[in-house]
Amino acid sequence: MIQELASKIRSGYRLDRSEALDLYLHAPTPLLGELADAVRARKHPGRVVTYIIDRNVNYTNVCVARCNFCAFYRPVGSSEGYVLGFEEIFRKIDETIALGGGQLLLQGGHNPDLPIEWYEDLFRAVKQKYPTFKLHALSPPEVIHLSRMSRLEVPAVLDRLIAAGLDSVPGGGAEILVDRVRKLLNCYNKATADEWLDVMRHAHRAGLRTTATMMYGTVETVEERLEHLFRLRDVQDEVGGFTAFITWSYQPDHTELGGSEATGIEYLRTLAVARLVLDNFDNLQASWVTQGGKVGQLSLAFGANDMGSVMIEENVVRAAGAAYCMDEIEIVRNIENAGFIAKRRNMHYEVLGDPIFRERAVPRMLELAVARADGDTSRPPEINRYAARSAAEKKARLSEH
Ligand code: SF4
Repeated sequence: MIQELASKIRSGYRLDRSEALDLYLHAPTPLLGELADAVRARKHPGRVVTYIIDRNVNYTNVCVARCNFCAFYRPVGSSEGYVLGFEEIFRKIDETIALGGGQLLLQGGHNPDLPIEWYEDLFRAVKQKYPTFKLHALSPPEVIHLSRMSRLEVPAVLDRLIAAGLDSVPGGGAEILVDRVRKLLNCYNKATADEWLDVMRHAHRAGLRTTATMMYGTVETVEERLEHLFRLRDVQDEVGGFTAFITWSYQPDHTELGGSEATGIEYLRTLAVARLVLDNFDNLQASWVTQGGKVGQLSLAFGANDMGSVMIEENVVRAAGAAYCMDEIEIVRNIENAGFIAKRRNMHYEVLGDPIFRERAVPRMLELAVARADGDTSRPPEINRYAARSAAEKKARLSEH
């Protein structure tokens, strides 16, 4: 049965749910790798593996959603809560540009004290100062949060953000797109599976490209992981705006949910099955930031054609215990050592060129930056221009007037 399925896949056959389940549960790992690698090679002949130089910036860690798998957020009023100032964000952009980057991946908590105008002003300010710099920003649950706070429909929120400078939408906050799982993870209220997918539909229809993600290894069954993949495949058939899929394993340290992390083999099997199911996705990223460089490199033999981002900064996964770092030199070394050709890309997966460090000297980056230095509790000056909703923040803003 598995061998029969394997030969069907080799001739480009589209898997159904029960076949995918059979493969996921029973196919030998090397066979899954071989099949996924063949799909990668068919979609990306020429052995090019891409990566992007951009920076993950988390503009705030204050969040009312309280997902139980998240070690990053702080509740409203916490002394460890922060909001980055516009000037701090500009400094991060300057550093990104110095390393050859052209984009921020901007995501944050659901902060009730940042109205939509704050985002619009930030995006406009970035575009005014850096006209060609890209903003890959606000995952679907953040868009839903803004829609609820501003009482605007999701398409209207997207239109306003696009007018202010939003370029594309990251696929975060998907976890597993099955509501039974979302209720157990306490992320059903921030976005149901349908709501998450609907934001992506609207974004694609508004002309934006987005990514899609899956965080596995919490409370879901294997069938529910596959349900997630098939739901993404259906939406991609319908609207077609996903550029890439990224999966990673749940990182349990310092979370309320606890538990243990899935193994490297489970990661590679999940990646390979995703490559086989998502036949309408062009690109699959390796998640070296959760799996480390070595498994990241192996991903290239299990269906991934992209090494993701240099990142420069990371706060979310680090809070849950993973702190891998690879700068451009290290990413390229891993790609080339695996027998591929490394190329820089943008968010649309258009190749921009060869590694920048071969063109000019760039500073080495031996550890990922953080949102702010430890102990920095400064409040951004512009924050007082915006109306707060929480009692704690109203008081703080009033006392600064
Ligand atoms: S995962 Fe995102 S939405 Fe959930 S608690 Fe963490 S910051 Fe908030």
